[in-house]
Amino acid sequence: MSQQLYDVIIIGGGPGGLTAGIYAKRAAMNAVLIEKGVPGGQIINSDEVENYPGFEHISGAELGMKLSQHAANYELEVLGREVTAILPGAESHRVTLDDGTQLETSALILGTGGNPRKLNIPGEDEYYGKGVSYCAVCDGFFFKGKTVVVVGGGDAATEEALYLSKIAEKVYIAHRRDALRASMLLQQRVFDECKIEMLWNTVLTEIKANQEGVYAVGLQDTQVRSQRELPVDGVFIFIGFDANNAVVPAGIRMSSDGYVMTDEKCETSIPGIYAIGDLREKYARQIITAAADGCVAALAAAHYVEAKKAADSCAL
Ligand code: NAP
Repeated sequence: MSQQLYDVIIIGGGPGGLTAGIYAKRAAMNAVLIEKGVPGGQIINSDEVENYPGFEHISGAELGMKLSQHAANYELEVLGREVTAILPGAESHRVTLDDGTQLETSALILGTGGNPRKLNIPGEDEYYGKGVSYCAVCDGFFFKGKTVVVVGGGDAATEEALYLSKIAEKVYIAHRRDALRASMLLQQRVFDECKIEMLWNTVLTEIKANQEGVYAVGLQDTQVRSQRELPVDGVFIFIGFDANNAVVPAGIRMSSDGYVMTDEKCETSIPGIYAIGDLREKYARQIITAAADGCVAALAAAHYVEAKKAADSCAL
């Protein structure tokens, strides 16, 4: 078991974590980023990214690689391990890794992200990024003049269906019940939009694709159990989102649905611990907002660490 003291530990190597790493190194902090998978985060699975300023068109994998390279140019230390526990302390915070290593840090930035809930049906994983999407703002553009099906009945599904109706020729909303859960305002807008057609009491059983991409979905009526095939070019799934909050330490204030509450500096209810990106309670979950959080948190952490060092040296 080894122990090492860092100025800042960043957990998560998505756009938020990597941006935090870049800013931490530019602030001359002794920083390490811990990522259990490939640095780049969720975006590495996106075929096309067209809403990250400065890049009119780039694949998620390439953008992830560029962010990693940018951080590497600043000699950011990256550990390919999983964090198993975090113990906050008054003087420093302790991070335990899956091999038993313990690291101590003055500041901690949590950027563990989250995952959209899945339907777990055949074709969903295979055709992700090839017609299956969990983000209309990211991928809607590719369905200009086409037919898509949105799955879900909450605020996200209805809002995203309305967004898609401005781009696609036809939008179906497949919902497992006969009433939407979404706010009345969104419901009314959906019912007033002639491009949107509701498929009530309907679940998807399968997503079918060929070399050109998705061409149909299998549907089942939840009442009479009948099956049919619906031709579509894209499938947008909005049945909820889960923050990866398993290692968020007790004592940090969270929203009722599992997101970490922060102030405008991305600082949590425990001083010196920050949350960024999709893990954080916020309005828009986009690559650019994750990167912006990373910047804010690293600048705030640098200020926190400097103030702490100054206070510690005065106390000597
Ligand atoms: P949500 O409100 O939990 O809705 C999820 C929807 O997916 C529900 O209609 C649910 O059906 C359906 N669903 C869940 N699991 C399913 C499955 N396995 N198969 C088929 N359908 C399934 O989630 P959300 O829409 O992502 O919203 C999350 C939170 O963010 C909510 O509090 C929402 O108000 C908020 N939000 C707000 C806005 C806004 O204010 N503009 C926009 C987006 C999100 P049932 O209805 O049958 O349970």
